[in-house]
Amino acid sequence: MAELETRYVFVTGGVASSLGKGVIAASLAKLLQSRGYSVTIQKLDPYLNIDPGTLNPYEHGECYVTDDGAETDLDLGHYERFLNVPTSQDNNVTTGRIYRNVITKERKGEYLGKTVQIVPHITDEIKRNIMLMGTRHKFDVVITEIGGTVGDIESLPFIESVRQLKWELGYRAMFIHLTLVPYLNASHELKTKPTQHSVKALLENGIQPDVLVLRSEHDLSIELRKKVARFCNVDPDAVVQSIDVKSIYEVPIKMKEQHLDEIAMRKLQLPVKHDADLADWINFLEKQKNATKKVHIALVGKYVELPDAYKSIIESLNHASTYNDRKLLLDLVHSENITEDNIDSKLKDVDGIIVAPGFGQRGTEGKILAVKYARENNIPFLGICLGMQMSVVEFARNVLKFDKANSSEMDHSTPYPVIDLMESQKNITNMGGTMRLGAYDCKLVKGTKAFEAYGKELVRERHRHRYEYNNKYLADYEKAGMIASGINPDTGLVEIVEIPTHKWFVSCQFHPEYSSTVLKPHPLFMAFIKAAITNTKK
Ligand code: GLN
Repeated sequence: MAELETRYVFVTGGVASSLGKGVIAASLAKLLQSRGYSVTIQKLDPYLNIDPGTLNPYEHGECYVTDDGAETDLDLGHYERFLNVPTSQDNNVTTGRIYRNVITKERKGEYLGKTVQIVPHITDEIKRNIMLMGTRHKFDVVITEIGGTVGDIESLPFIESVRQLKWELGYRAMFIHLTLVPYLNASHELKTKPTQHSVKALLENGIQPDVLVLRSEHDLSIELRKKVARFCNVDPDAVVQSIDVKSIYEVPIKMKEQHLDEIAMRKLQLPVKHDADLADWINFLEKQKNATKKVHIALVGKYVELPDAYKSIIESLNHASTYNDRKLLLDLVHSENITEDNIDSKLKDVDGIIVAPGFGQRGTEGKILAVKYARENNIPFLGICLGMQMSVVEFARNVLKFDKANSSEMDHSTPYPVIDLMESQKNITNMGGTMRLGAYDCKLVKGTKAFEAYGKELVRERHRHRYEYNNKYLADYEKAGMIASGINPDTGLVEIVEIPTHKWFVSCQFHPEYSSTVLKPHPLFMAFIKAAITNTKK
């Protein structure tokens, strides 16, 4: 059979940001995948940073890391959680990367004699990056989400590029535009004018949307959809509503009810192979709905005002709770506000404690207190990255009695740098993309809780950090009761520590949250939640 020519779906947004383009893209991708197509999703981000790795979480939420070590937008996390297929650096492209590539080529003389311009040089580079998902990665369907909203100055080159691609690809490309239909309480009315204006803005840029997805807090009548269809030149059945739902994982089902997959297949002339097979997905949703008993977890971190900073951890906890037939009750506990006097009131009711990743000194003393509380009170504990490092520091100070032990990230002159900069990091001065990034092997020690959780000896997990467990102290730790249960087989770096005498105390240097998906919850989160359940207070 001839190879299918890759189809391209471009998703734009209008009226407001944060309408959930990523979730709509992921939902359509899920539906097409469940019909037997290989699908990927790509995000184009209009900012000038090369990647979000240098951004503060307050600016941009969590930085998601792929197997190949790309620091990317958090939407890629949704893509992987929905599709259960790894993404890569090619799935996230920023304006900064595009300009860097073009300017590098210019310096090499690849455009010799020519004036280098936004059109065609920047737009060609954007087009090349979109097409790569088909030409290099060979997906049947590529869904490209364009960050920002239509009308923004900074997203114009992206919009112009996909306009050109549609012209070149014909039926192999289509546009989905997501807008907001606000409800005016005073007059009890849903308003379509912002959508009409937003489509007008797209049309001014030469783009006719094929499908409109209208985000709304209320049901949209057939009449209203017909009106939008008429004003915006789209088929009435291609006006789809996206109503607020309890869980984002319900969105594919909502989209299926409105035949979004069939509409897309019709427009893209994709043959119907078989009906969507969503049995496993629906099983997850049923479990989520039917769980009545709760598991109460505290997530201790310094970005708790902004839960998006911990998106993947929260989703991983959701997956694991659901598969353990529990509803997740999550307390986000601000590490900066924890003191010896108030810690009991903050943590006494929880069944399990997670100490979150992070950078810099702020809030670390509170994290150390939270570790101590979990350790001393035998509360199931999972430390992630900085959370792992702080559990190592806590053990040094309070069990090994290493006075003023610390990570050298927090205290340059600590007498006990139990967490220290790797030799290979010492001469690095550039901040962007220079951490230990991406997937590394980890060998588990038989008989440990980590081994029991994974059920195998060799695993691969994603990293994003500069500092490491200092092997100089390993013997002291193991003698005093904190063992290394996961080691990098190539470098000897300690990747997991645990306390065998504790109910469940496991800390990992890597980020398990990046690889938990709806259909494949992460083993460490599963084991942590299981332990927390046995500890359930009420
Ligand atoms: N700040 C620590 C380091 O760089 C931990 C990083 C993290 O938690 N992602 O090693």
